[in-house]
Amino acid sequence: MKARIFSGVQPSGELHIGNYLGALKNWAEIQSRYESIFCIVDLHAITTYQKPEELSAKIRKTAALFIAAGIDPQQSSIVVQSSIPPHAELAWLLTCVTPLGWLYRMTQFKAKAEKQDTVGDGVLQYPVLMAADILLYHANVVPVGEDQSQHLELTRDIAQRFNSLYGDTFVMPETSLPAVGARIMGLDDPTQKMSKSAGGSGHAIALLDNPDAIRKKIGRATTDPQPAVDPENMGPGIANLLTIAQACDGSVTQERVAGMRYGDFKKLVAEAVIARLAPIQERYKEVTADLCYIDSVLNDGKSRVLPIAEGTLREAKRAIGLYI
Ligand code: ATP
Ligand code: MG
Repeated sequence: MKARIFSGVQPSGELHIGNYLGALKNWAEIQSRYESIFCIVDLHAITTYQKPEELSAKIRKTAALFIAAGIDPQQSSIVVQSSIPPHAELAWLLTCVTPLGWLYRMTQFKAKAEKQDTVGDGVLQYPVLMAADILLYHANVVPVGEDQSQHLELTRDIAQRFNSLYGDTFVMPETSLPAVGARIMGLDDPTQKMSKSAGGSGHAIALLDNPDAIRKKIGRATTDPQPAVDPENMGPGIANLLTIAQACDGSVTQERVAGMRYGDFKKLVAEAVIARLAPIQERYKEVTADLCYIDSVLNDGKSRVLPIAEGTLREAKRAIGLYI
């Protein structure tokens, strides 16, 4: 039997090259070696307000981008989190074994809480729901970007705590990070992670950006006062652009760009990104041409994984002694 992988993306905005290089690209590469479940985690997205009329479109758009980025819906299950009720129910069971102190320590919670006057409980509970997403499928491996490593450690802590209180129920999931591109930084501020829900128009390159927009954004990306690329002494902006270029095009090396003036270097980066995104954009057009196709993929994914989720939830409830 193949080991299982689970991972997800929030339909919280435009998917960007950070999501692609940190997660989707890796998913597409490893999906055939595993039994793969890829999830549009809409219950996570609503931890910050989403306009209802836009959310359902974003869910379908995210699913279409999974396929456009190379996820094969015949081979892998593509599912929407809110269509599988056991995610939310298991999250409650796990909430009851999670000390508050573990959640207050999460870097992402601290960063998000700092930016808001009032912080929704969902922002604090988010990692418990994420633990439920993963443990529900007894996932062996979780391919994510580096920003999710801490949440994965917490998932293992929660699983261990549940198992020690109620007996062996959950599998310990491993984290899988891509070799290059595990943490893409914002173009406008290379000290901040590129994020769907942050920054202005120069912050991120969306997967569906046209070549002109990509050239402009990379042309305006923050660098440093040096005139040319010095591999021995790269500021965070140049290092980030080099990572993006290398993750998009394996033939880009430090040696090749050493001494390049920033203007020329940025052109090289932009062309590497444009070439990498072109087939994804082409495929996106195809998969969205038939309006029913995405819904049929999501229904199919749901019917494949719901029995697994229901089975695990039942085991967990039985272990606790709840009435089933
Ligand atoms: P949001 O701002 O709404 O949290 P996000 O851009 O952080 O959006 P998520 O949906 O939270 O995206 O994460 C989806 C996947 O993309 C996760 O595996 C995450 O680790 C990965 N990821 C997100 N941002 C980056 C990034 N800048 N570099 C590499 N991987 C990333
Ligand atoms: Mg995120």
